[in-house]
Amino acid sequence: MKKSLQTSLIHPDYTAPEGFDAFPPAIHHASTVLFTNVAAMRSGDWKNKQSYTYGLHGTPTTFTLEARLAELEGGTHCLLAPSGLAAIAMVDFALLKTGDDVLLPENVYNPNRELGKWLSNDFGITARYYDPLVGAGIAGLIQPNTKLIWTEAPGSVSMEVPDLPAICKAAHARGVLVALDNTWSAGLALRGFDMGVDIVMQALTKYQSGGSDVLMGALVTRDAALNERLAMAHMRLGMGVSADDAYLVMRGLPSMKLRFEAHDASARKVAAWLKARPEITRVLHPAFEDCPGHENWKRDFTGAGGLFSVLFDARYSEEQTDRFVDSLELFGLGYSWGGANSLVMPYRIKAIRSNWTGSGTLVRFNIGLEDTADLIADIERALAVL
Ligand SMILES: *Cc1c(COP(=O)(O)O)cnc(C)c1O
Repeated sequence: MKKSLQTSLIHPDYTAPEGFDAFPPAIHHASTVLFTNVAAMRSGDWKNKQSYTYGLHGTPTTFTLEARLAELEGGTHCLLAPSGLAAIAMVDFALLKTGDDVLLPENVYNPNRELGKWLSNDFGITARYYDPLVGAGIAGLIQPNTKLIWTEAPGSVSMEVPDLPAICKAAHARGVLVALDNTWSAGLALRGFDMGVDIVMQALTKYQSGGSDVLMGALVTRDAALNERLAMAHMRLGMGVSADDAYLVMRGLPSMKLRFEAHDASARKVAAWLKARPEITRVLHPAFEDCPGHENWKRDFTGAGGLFSVLFDARYSEEQTDRFVDSLELFGLGYSWGGANSLVMPYRIKAIRSNWTGSGTLVRFNIGLEDTADLIADIERALAVL
């Protein structure tokens, strides 16, 4: 066909030869996905992951990341969301309707609690909060209209480790689905499906990416029908992720387990050092005996990662512990975890948990990949300002 210069800019002659191969997955950018002909377009089904219909419903890049994450968790289906929180919201919008009831642990990731409040206030859904250590006692909280139980193992600020098999057993006896926020263990140290959960949610923002530079979430299931319910919400809410972001997450995966183990080893050393300090009354690290639910961690987990909290002795005011936090040099003050940089965050936990009985300021540490001795020296120096 004869082309003008302008048309050549849009319809060039060249096509790269077939047969290129390399380790990194290709990054496919697309809103429009091209069909070979009308018949292919008419027979296209956005749900079918053996074919392509529209960028929002998947490209080879996003399908590859989904499949890799499903394999990692021991699931069969995966859906990506633009953040961990978006993945959480997708579960609620897929599975709950007006008149339904959802149970969330009191130590739940705070934006998930906020979502529960919104569902209660504006959507005619009841969201009730349970003691994360309730275990089999969850049976007494399940109502005929309870459709979903959220779990988080452990709670990412106060670190209680729930008895997941007991919660799942009680839930399934009443036909209630269980979703697990498995971000803390990255799916490496806790096998959600082995615990009995129906949906594993991951904030890929954390260890999977490992770069502190991307936001993404995932839902993994083992059940085609359940995946389809989630996929309907995924489609209706327009939960797309960018190809570049999907690539960044895939780039982190090969090193994730090694990084996780390095975070874990270093965090246990820092936590043990803090435990021996007179300024600290409690170390809330699931691998330590003073962590509520430690026995569940011991039974169900194979590792711990870099995130834990401590309680300062109540004799220190918040002003003093704030000064400690501000004095740290190697620890950035910021939310999230799973990257190379250590982080610290003080929490006003009584403002979130009205029935919190602990005393003293709670400070959360994310131990990054710096040299452990340097981190401990930094903390020791900052403790001196107390
Ligand atoms: C970070 C996090 C999320 C949310 O992930 P975003 O990608 O930041 O939205 C959810 N749950 C837990 C436990 C998290 O740590």
